[in-house]
Amino acid sequence: MSAIQKVNLLGLSPEKLIEFFESIGEKKFRATQVMKWIHQKGAESFEEMTDVSKKLRAKLEGICEIRAPEIVEQNISTDGTRKWIIRTEGGKNDCVETVLIPDGDRATLCVSSQVGCSLDCSFCSTGKQGFNRNLTPAEIIGQVWIAIKSFGPMDPNGPRRVTNVVMMGMGEPLMNFEPVVDAMILMMHDNAYGLSKRRVTLSTSGVVPKIYELVKRTDVSLAISLHAPNNPLRDELVPINRKYPIEELLEACQHYLDNLPDKRHITIEYTMMAGVNDQETHARELVGLLKNLECKVNLIPFNPFPHSGYEKPSNNQTRRFQKILADEGYTVTVRTTRGEDIDAACGQLVGDFHDKTRRSQKYIELREVSDQS
Ligand code: SAH
Ligand code: SF4
Repeated sequence: MSAIQKVNLLGLSPEKLIEFFESIGEKKFRATQVMKWIHQKGAESFEEMTDVSKKLRAKLEGICEIRAPEIVEQNISTDGTRKWIIRTEGGKNDCVETVLIPDGDRATLCVSSQVGCSLDCSFCSTGKQGFNRNLTPAEIIGQVWIAIKSFGPMDPNGPRRVTNVVMMGMGEPLMNFEPVVDAMILMMHDNAYGLSKRRVTLSTSGVVPKIYELVKRTDVSLAISLHAPNNPLRDELVPINRKYPIEELLEACQHYLDNLPDKRHITIEYTMMAGVNDQETHARELVGLLKNLECKVNLIPFNPFPHSGYEKPSNNQTRRFQKILADEGYTVTVRTTRGEDIDAACGQLVGDFHDKTRRSQKYIELREVSDQS
């Protein structure tokens, strides 16, 4: 007889956790108790749940579990930045990366949503790896759970805590919609991680229909990976643009903002590649393109990786580009590098824990994007 597959409670949204408790004949408030134990106190077993009766603990032990993804490697940079390589349920080499960037009284966690990515942006090493699989809700929220256990609790008065989450690790979050939404709901729920909706950001390369779906389900902050001011260039860099061109994407952004209960802006991410999209003409085109959208622009100097075929622009070129936008009244930030002793920059996450040769690559500071409040 095969062993019964236990239900992993780690990934259940608050609603699904209640459904689960009701389905086993237990009261709703038990779900709240257990949720607090798992997410706020980081419980790994039912035994620890001292305010739950022994009888119920034994019952839960028999049918469910709290199972986080396995940590394969943890690196801590001299500047405090941390990176975890975690193994997903797909098997030995199905790994993703999670990066935590502490910065003064805040710490931003960069979370992965897929092993690989199917969207094949021309400048992204995750894209080059191809699509492998979607992460489960437990694997997504598990990254937050792991980071908090290792870094510091959610206690707002505690010395260290994760203050922001950005869905900017490996994968396209809107291509793994339900698990990502469930995980983000947990990130913001008072009985789980209690993060403000302004401090949870989803970054997408532009899966337009899913942006319309997203605003029906949640009100996290939205970042758009634009990278080009016109369709021909964007078609080349971000192939999903051929399906959902810039006009449709910006319309979806406006719809998103219009349907939020509060006033917010969209973050426009623009990875700059020398001679490709970093010219003054591009900056001027961008000024015109974004004029009706409430947005802030975040310029990301390209992070090189072997055989990428692209180069990072000079600092001068980046500053020139930034100034053109700033002179027109845009808020423009440039993501800066921070450490170089471990390897975890945007677009370089490949989940490959065998490759220790890429040590020279640098961190990206996610501060600007995650600072929505
Ligand atoms: N799939 C989502 C989120 C993950 S990528 C998205 O595309 O938005 C997170 C950010 O890193 C995106 O803005 C992406 O365009 C950028 N990025 C990817 N590769 C990069 C590279 N080599 N250098 C700099 N930024 C990169
Ligand atoms: Fe996928 Fe984002 Fe990389 Fe494009 S930039 S390939 S959408 S992870």
